[in-house]
Amino acid sequence: MKNIRNFCIIAHIDHGKSTLADRLLDYTGSVTEREKQEQLLDSMDLERERGITIKSHAIQMDYIHEGEEYILNLIDTPGHVDFSYEVSRSIAACEGALLVVDAAQSIQAQTISNLYLALENDLEIIPVLNKVDLPSANPEEVTDDIVDLLGCDPSEVIPASAKTGLGIKEILDAIINRIPPPSGKVDAPLRALIFDSVYNPFRGVETFFRVINGSIKKGQHIKFVNTDKNYYADEVGTLKLKQLPKKEIKTGDVGYLITGIKDAREVKVGDTITGADNPTTEAVAGFEDVKPMVFAGIYPVDTEDYEELRASMEKLQLNDASLVFTPESSAALGFGFRCGFLGMLHLEIIQERLEREFDMTVITTVPNVSYHAYTNKNPDEVILVNNPSDLPEPSTLNRVEEPYIKATIITKADYVGNVMSLCIEKRGEITNQTYLTTERVELTFDMPLAEIVFDFYDRLKTVSRGYASFDYTPIGMRTSKLVKVDVLLNANKVDALSALLHVDNAYDIGKKMCEKLKELIPRQQFDIPIQAAIGAKIIARETVKALRKDVTAKCYGGDISRKRKLLEKQKKGKKRMRQVGNVEIPQEAFMAVLKLN
Ligand code: GDP
Ligand code: MG
Repeated sequence: MKNIRNFCIIAHIDHGKSTLADRLLDYTGSVTEREKQEQLLDSMDLERERGITIKSHAIQMDYIHEGEEYILNLIDTPGHVDFSYEVSRSIAACEGALLVVDAAQSIQAQTISNLYLALENDLEIIPVLNKVDLPSANPEEVTDDIVDLLGCDPSEVIPASAKTGLGIKEILDAIINRIPPPSGKVDAPLRALIFDSVYNPFRGVETFFRVINGSIKKGQHIKFVNTDKNYYADEVGTLKLKQLPKKEIKTGDVGYLITGIKDAREVKVGDTITGADNPTTEAVAGFEDVKPMVFAGIYPVDTEDYEELRASMEKLQLNDASLVFTPESSAALGFGFRCGFLGMLHLEIIQERLEREFDMTVITTVPNVSYHAYTNKNPDEVILVNNPSDLPEPSTLNRVEEPYIKATIITKADYVGNVMSLCIEKRGEITNQTYLTTERVELTFDMPLAEIVFDFYDRLKTVSRGYASFDYTPIGMRTSKLVKVDVLLNANKVDALSALLHVDNAYDIGKKMCEKLKELIPRQQFDIPIQAAIGAKIIARETVKALRKDVTAKCYGGDISRKRKLLEKQKKGKKRMRQVGNVEIPQEAFMAVLKLN
């Protein structure tokens, strides 16, 4: 145990975690020349293409330091807020963390939020000043920022470049010298923390764990404490680049477990593994179910694909336990599902995976957060509103509550004014303002989650010219003035276009939605009035003017094959259209509310 080190790499997005992990693997000879590729640990195609880490990954390295053999378990973590729960579990499985800071960008919002998570778990922090090779790097200044933040000595900050390999040996030495070895009880009953799981179509769910006390043996009868289910450990092993089966994984070490579980929902990150026969009395603390933050409808473009969509969603859920869905129906779109996501990035990823991995073309409706409604009849009984149609009739409504977050924004002093105006426009209330240095300011706001779900992140980048980073944590429900805004096309209400909005935004957004829909809905043989309404009251109106000419008319009497081609082209263009009443609506229209301004 004294020669094991468990550590994670934490950083703001793009500061170089995955690249640094690659360099550590190279240096310790953990990958062969043939296995080498960039961002090795981001194994999903989507992760590679987008250059983001979605899942945590663990890998074991062997390293000889001053003649002694060490086992270094590295746990890479996702950086995006949508996946922050995984970060917190990875952190709980380690004794130390490399805090990577970009030498050009300095400290950003997730640098701080991940650092706090690491400090809450009493991790030893090794600050790494990455990207010192960049011409725009400010090593002295950024070192000062780090020293201010951590209260450490400047000599503890390791200058490095994950690109050139500078500082890699120093980092490995620091991991061995500064991070304490694990301290568990070898003789105590098995107690292991599940920090991640992945779905493998051939082997079922692979569970990654850190043994805190005792050991886990191949073939052992085990129990997951929070789900209260028993399994047999069909296979256990360590996580080299490929999995390496072992007879036993001992105290302090990290490994994988295969039990034949086929459904990702049975394996909950944060749960405790123990022996079925001699269980631990103490589960690992802090276990909570991951809650979806954003809800939207997902419908097949072709109504007859509903069953296929269901099958695809079920398969996707087997490997993404944070996706939840229930069947719903819409007058406009037919049968589909109301789905819950961790955030907008998660929504985008699910939609993309449905298309790529399952060849499903889907329509996603306007997302909303989850509201609590109370009626006058039953003012104490909460009604969960995950869908605009769930909102009770306004006349029966006692009150509505919406989820709030604490937003932390770090920006340059020059942009404080812009950031404040944006947050106030988004119904934020400033709760704190701290100068981290003379140049850099940390602002905290209480804000409605609904306001940041949509275009907040992009707007923040624009008003700060890219010099603002953002992080948030939920802080509970607050009373709100919510209304349902409906959209009528050709005087027919299209339920899938309804949105739940704060009353102060309803008129403005209703108007913009009508304008946007006017752009997106193709002209047809007749005028199409577009209206936004709250109840019976029309709040905005636009018209899509009738088409003057038949597009095929110009081919009249001409080449018949050309005419057919034109018709086929039109048909293809219709693939993502939905016929609602006598109006054709393109898919983008259903997400129009996201792309206003
Ligand atoms: P992550 O989001 O923290 O995992 O960051 P990545 O490892 O994906 O790196 C983000 C970007 O920074 C990539 O384009 C890397 O090639 C680049 N990068 C990472 N480390 C360095 C470095 O030391 N120097 C330079 N110049 N670029 C780097
Ligand atoms: Mg990464």
